[in-house]
Amino acid sequence: MNIHEYQAKVILAEFGVPIPPWILAANGEEAAQAFEKLSVPVAVVKAQVHAGGRGKGGGVKLARTAAEAAAVAQGIMAKPLVTPQTGPQGVRVNQVMLTPAVEIAHEYYIGMVLNRTKACPMVIASAEGGVEIEEVAKKSPEKIFSELCDPVLGLYPFQARQIAFSLGFTGPVVDVAVKILQGIAQAYLQYDCTILEINPLVLTKSGELLALDSKISFDDNAVYRHESLYTNMKDETEIPATEIRAKQIGLSYVSMDGNIGCMVNGAGLAMATMDIIKYAGGQPANFLDVGGGVTKDQVREAFKLILSDARVKAILVNIFGGIAHCDVIAEGVRNAVQEIGLHVPVVVRLEGTHVEEGKKILETSTLNVITAIDMKDAAEKVVAAAQRVVAEQPIGN
Ligand code: GDP
Ligand code: MN
Repeated sequence: MNIHEYQAKVILAEFGVPIPPWILAANGEEAAQAFEKLSVPVAVVKAQVHAGGRGKGGGVKLARTAAEAAAVAQGIMAKPLVTPQTGPQGVRVNQVMLTPAVEIAHEYYIGMVLNRTKACPMVIASAEGGVEIEEVAKKSPEKIFSELCDPVLGLYPFQARQIAFSLGFTGPVVDVAVKILQGIAQAYLQYDCTILEINPLVLTKSGELLALDSKISFDDNAVYRHESLYTNMKDETEIPATEIRAKQIGLSYVSMDGNIGCMVNGAGLAMATMDIIKYAGGQPANFLDVGGGVTKDQVREAFKLILSDARVKAILVNIFGGIAHCDVIAEGVRNAVQEIGLHVPVVVRLEGTHVEEGKKILETSTLNVITAIDMKDAAEKVVAAAQRVVAEQPIGN
């Protein structure tokens, strides 16, 4: 689960990270009131959306009067915010944060991730903050410092000091930086985070360290340890509609960037299907595991879900019937198509329990399916079908 900047700031403050005061506003009037309440000469108005890169997209702006704060807030919330991380359609902004503008002397990056190779959480830091850390890592990896963090005992003081020195801190700021670094490590471990970032952590002109922006993602496998956190901080408006729908139907669905819709049973087969589509030169639009005990109604809804994605140009149904019966899958697909029609080619590879019955249902339906004999054949056929659809489309679509 991802959370908003203001929510991440609530958590970080619990762990002693210095956070400037902030107030939320859901409209212009509230923004004006918030500006008055902050009682500062200049405030920053910041869109509260899960996507980053808001600064570049016009989601972080300054305001010098209450009237300006109202206008800026209204402007940010009036239309979807497009940032390098949202895609061209952008995301809706329901709330903005107002916070005092500070005079920045330098921007730093500090964060924590899971180092999968070392199977250990890791603190990363750079004096090149404010910008995308991925870019720094690519262009000048020597400017990124890291320390593996003991998953039980946290970040040792000597490790935190090492990072503070690497960032170039001197004097009393070192102690503050150490506290912040140990604080984020504690927060990361206690809340089962997958990513925790402060970007930028700033040194102000008056010599203060402040976390100006923060992002936290939690490991959903640990939901049961943080029930109240999930209840309080989940924002369903930020989750793609397809994923919410999939959860209601009881399916594992993950949206991806390609144009080939996949309906598969079993997570392993679903992964293998995505691999073989890529191997055949295509890109999957989703991961969808319909599971073992799937009903024809679930299959129908799953198929409708795939069809609701406008990017999908062809669909691959790849079923190895074990507990799932091929005829149940076939019936679900047929019902979905009868209900809402079909505008893209479908390649079907069925094998296993009740395969003959399943094939018969598909053959006798009005569905114009392309049958495949094995996975390789299916992947090649679906990639070719998607390419045909793309080629036939008028330019601009
Ligand atoms: P992001 O673009 O979504 O990562 O949003 P940030 O909160 O990181 O803001 C983007 C950039 O705006 C920061 O890197 C800063 O350079 C700038 N910024 C944010 N808050 C302040 C502030 O209080 N004062 C000044 N001068 N710049 C700020
Ligand atoms: Mn940022």
